[in-house]
Amino acid sequence: MSTFAWADDAYLSEEKDILVIAHSSEWKPYSYIPGNGQPKGLLIDFWQAYAKYNHTSIQFMLADWSDSLAYMKEGGDRIHAGLLKSAEREAYLDYVAPIFNTNGSLYVKNQSGQVSKDPLAAGKVVGVVDGSYESWFLAEHYPDVEQKRFRRNETLFSAALDGEISALVADTQTANFYFLTQGKPLAFVAEQILYTRPIYAAVPKGNQALLKEVREGIDNIPAAELLRIKQKWVNTERVEAYPAWLIPSIVLVMLLGAVTYIFILKRMVYKRTVALRRANARLREFANTDPLTQLLNRRGLETYFTRLKPKLSRQQEMGLILIDLDHFKQVNDTYGHMQGDKVLVHLASYLKRFVKKGAAARLGGEEFCILCPTQDLDALIEMANHIRCDIAETVFEFGGADIRVTVSIGAIVSSDVVEEIKQLELDALIHAADLLMYRAKDRGRNQVMLASSQSVNTPIVEI
Ligand code: GH3
Ligand code: MG
Ligand code: MG
Repeated sequence: MSTFAWADDAYLSEEKDILVIAHSSEWKPYSYIPGNGQPKGLLIDFWQAYAKYNHTSIQFMLADWSDSLAYMKEGGDRIHAGLLKSAEREAYLDYVAPIFNTNGSLYVKNQSGQVSKDPLAAGKVVGVVDGSYESWFLAEHYPDVEQKRFRRNETLFSAALDGEISALVADTQTANFYFLTQGKPLAFVAEQILYTRPIYAAVPKGNQALLKEVREGIDNIPAAELLRIKQKWVNTERVEAYPAWLIPSIVLVMLLGAVTYIFILKRMVYKRTVALRRANARLREFANTDPLTQLLNRRGLETYFTRLKPKLSRQQEMGLILIDLDHFKQVNDTYGHMQGDKVLVHLASYLKRFVKKGAAARLGGEEFCILCPTQDLDALIEMANHIRCDIAETVFEFGGADIRVTVSIGAIVSSDVVEEIKQLELDALIHAADLLMYRAKDRGRNQVMLASSQSVNTPIVEI
């Protein structure tokens, strides 16, 4: 028999009679004696808390299970730390209060997936600890099972691992603890939980004074403290129950998950960025394009002008041809606005094809423009006149109507407007070309007007 004393020094001054608390010396994780000899376990913590909150001194009497019961049978001021209720125990114990829940399971030998046939059938041998609740439970509920009784948990579990028995009934926590600490967590499997019952503190039968004292004493332990103790032991045992590879595996899986997640996220961001860029490019295109003719609009021409200007070589100038349809209002009035639109669209595609270096744009209404690098004014004159002739000679055949149009053109090169190309503004160029175009109108339309190389206001060359 092993006995261990424990007392909180702070309370020794008001020392009362020392209470002896009896329990098993190897019922892990409820109470047991580890290598250093100091009692440990959930029930040990519980009774230490009891001592603390009731300012009393206690002493543990930890022994073989059946000895702890025999000790209680002797009567006197002693407490059983915790056990399950059974009819047999009623004879010599009064139960104080439930402390914690526990459950008992049927364990059977793990035969590589084979299921053993009804281990609790009549005549089957099942191992239990002598005098334990498990033994009582089996006798009560499975009277035909042949019980093989062991003195202590340790001998019961050793017998199981040595192949002496192939089935046993034990406290679930205790059995798991033993099998795991023996490095054989899978040797036996908990096939069935047989019961879940509270563990009661108990005093010798008839000791009413002690019963009352302990019952009140237990009530003095704060609920939070009880929870802490339970958490401590349940969690501790659980952590030990994890196979060594489990935590690294979980970490690895989480890491892989995180990496995959980041990868998917990056791909999504990349795809969305590309889609956004495309959408932006299309938006820019829309903003720079005339919807009817698909030529550049005024804004698009400005962008083109800004890009072209620094690319011009020393020999090159910026040339601009401004084209306005003559009497286009009449075309609309005669053939309808829709036909007028078709003329504009055809004219636009003609200009697009015609301009090899440079850009064609629709500045608004029936007014078009070509902006291009040019060697000199002569080259531009040729271009402009070519356009004028082509248009004048074209017959647009829409819906049975033959539509003919002419254009008045103002053509200008940058040196007509500014001395240094750097100072050139598109507005100034268009404005100068516009004035020339109106001169062409004044002079009878269907002609190209040019500024002299000196000034916009100087006489104009007519072709
Ligand atoms: P001018 O020779 O003096 O330029 O005469 P015009 O009739 O061409 O000039 P005006 O400025 O008086 O009228 C321009 C006409 O162009 C008026 C309008 O009906 C027509 N127009 C402008 N934009 C469009 C368009 O998008 N579609 C069509 N079908 N016609 C347009
Ligand atoms: Mg016009
Ligand atoms: Mg006009």
